[in-house]
Amino acid sequence: MFLIMHVILDRPPPPFFDCLASKPVLMPPMASFTKNIVDLVGNTPLIKLNRLTADLPDNVQVFLKAEWLNPGGSVKDRAARGIVLDGLQRGLLKPGGILLDASSGNTGIAYAMLAAALDFKLLLCLPRNANEERKKTLVGYGAELVLTDPNDGSDGAIVEAQRLSALHPEYYYADQYGNDANWRAHYESTGPEILEQTEGKITHFVAGLGTSGTCMGVGRFLRDNAPEAKVVSFEPDSPFHGLEGMKHMETAIVPPIYDVGVAHENRTCRTEDAYDRVRTLGRQEGLFVGISAGAATHIALQIAHAEAAAGREATIVALSPDGGSRYLSERFWNE
Ligand code: PMP
Repeated sequence: MFLIMHVILDRPPPPFFDCLASKPVLMPPMASFTKNIVDLVGNTPLIKLNRLTADLPDNVQVFLKAEWLNPGGSVKDRAARGIVLDGLQRGLLKPGGILLDASSGNTGIAYAMLAAALDFKLLLCLPRNANEERKKTLVGYGAELVLTDPNDGSDGAIVEAQRLSALHPEYYYADQYGNDANWRAHYESTGPEILEQTEGKITHFVAGLGTSGTCMGVGRFLRDNAPEAKVVSFEPDSPFHGLEGMKHMETAIVPPIYDVGVAHENRTCRTEDAYDRVRTLGRQEGLFVGISAGAATHIALQIAHAEAAAGREATIVALSPDGGSRYLSERFWNE
């Protein structure tokens, strides 16, 4: 309407400004629309850290892959979309049918969004102590929840999903921990996006391990297409940790899709260091991220300092799975 008025009045539409460069950017002449929320998954921005890297040389750069900007709010939109489309294509998930899985939250939210948009039902097993924000979001999307014993953690939810799957073979048990469509989604979308966004210059990719799908998919893609780039995985430093969505592999059920040979290096991160980075990303970069994103940033900055000390150039990408709004009820914000 706005643009039409300007055409009628024979005036050019006003420019919109790119804030720092003050470059006028003309809006496209036609409004466009999205046919289905599913089409908005992926193509997330790569955001450069500035103030947190002020003490590093210009040729050492750290970027966050901003996965919290997916429509369901996390990186798991990609894996869930891959798993759902694969299940539909193979006829394992029927329109109107039931998808069953275990999730500590983000995959569940992604499935729930897709279930509503693509018309199937979701039955989700998750630990009772999953935070209220996540449970309310799931209910908001209309998911049906099976709450499991908090003492059994995310593994307890997996065991319950396996039990329900054996009782109800008519459900599509999506099994994100063992489903190759999980890592393939990242091989096909996240990996190529990162390579293109860094113009092929990526030297290090940092990702935390949950199902390990992100690290397996992007890691394999980089090994095939940018063999000089280092793939760095990381996990919590102890079995009792606050890095939601991540697994301490030594003490957890190891996901069948996890291959320890994909990453060149595996590191650990303390929960406290992740909290600290979450706070500084919000306060010094304007990036309101979740805990595992804080952890990925912490590892990326460790690598950046080591590369700078060795006099090497580096382009480091830290995969940032979700945003801070998923953790509003946590206490660490004020600590
Ligand atoms: N961080 C968060 C917040 C997550 O929800 C997940 C997914 N469980 C991960 C990290 C790990 O991602 P992936 O399952 O692809 O290893």
